[in-house]
Amino acid sequence: AGAASLALTLSACGQNSDGGSKEDKGSAKGGTIGIAMPTKSSERWITDGANVVKDLEAKGYKTKLVFGEDDPDQQVSQIENLITQGVKALIVAAIDNKSLNNVLQQAADAKIPVISYDRLILGTKNVDYYASFDNEKVGRLQGQYIVDKLGLASGKGPFNIELFAGSNDDNNTKYFFNGAMSVLQPYIDKKKLVVKSGQTKLTQVTTLRWDPATAQKRMEDNLTSSYTSGRVDAVLSPYDGISIGIIAALKSDGYGSKAKPLPVITGQDAELASVKSIIAGQQSMTIYKDLRKLAQVATDMVDASLNGKKPEINDTKSYDNGTKVVPAYLLQPVSVDKTNYEKELVQGGYYTADQLK
Ligand code: BGC
Repeated sequence: AGAASLALTLSACGQNSDGGSKEDKGSAKGGTIGIAMPTKSSERWITDGANVVKDLEAKGYKTKLVFGEDDPDQQVSQIENLITQGVKALIVAAIDNKSLNNVLQQAADAKIPVISYDRLILGTKNVDYYASFDNEKVGRLQGQYIVDKLGLASGKGPFNIELFAGSNDDNNTKYFFNGAMSVLQPYIDKKKLVVKSGQTKLTQVTTLRWDPATAQKRMEDNLTSSYTSGRVDAVLSPYDGISIGIIAALKSDGYGSKAKPLPVITGQDAELASVKSIIAGQQSMTIYKDLRKLAQVATDMVDASLNGKKPEINDTKSYDNGTKVVPAYLLQPVSVDKTNYEKELVQGGYYTADQLK
């Protein structure tokens, strides 16, 4: 095909034809990278999408960014479309970690490298690298916060706690939960922490698609059935959106007053509304994961893969996806509450002081 008809073909696919054409085989610079994010319903993924686009553009690539509305089928067809449009590489944050097998085979057939973004894609060899955080540590930090705030290590207790986990189709969920339980379980065993609902197994406490309303409903049900006497002293919540649902349920049950203060409530992602909630003394803490660094890691992986180089990896054993251990770069999560949000989030340039007003 001549250059003109190639340009036509590419623009018919909605792709820009300057640079990245089939003619400059050696380098993928100027080519388009497909980015598939799970949802716009949580602020973090919108930020992720924007950060990844910015970093790829700075590295000389074009981008196509799609959001899957938390619908696994929609995400599969979006990725199919990206492949048809001729993307050079894919960055994917999966909705359902087991639903991408077929579509990633199509990517492999087209020699498109795939970076698993934040959430590990399971059951396929067609994942080249994994960019994420130390997910187990996220859970440990949440658990440790509860232990510290309740003074459990110095013998205080017993206290009542309720447990929440993320979506059962997200590979991160069990890492967060197991990390937290590695810290909390010894106190449950010693009866210094009591789960009055009796819901302690991961299968009993997951929240499909991390939906805040689902968590709110479960918290309401638990308050009705298990707290006719006694109060909730702590809630393990895996994610800021879920924490917002839990706080709503607690407030409608009269928590949040001097006589009946809110329990210790964890969270994750340092989303704006939840940082404000922390400052206002409602949610207790969140796990801050610097998404700017995550985008940097993932886009470096793309750039290296497309240029025949090995990206920087710092973990080659933790993340077995059932088919292979996926080489990973894991970033460090940070526990943030009222005492250190200014240092971490404001001085760290993640939010301006004005945004937090
Ligand atoms: C991410 C968390 C996020 C959750 C819900 C997980 O896979 O690691 O940061 O809170 O999804 O979006």
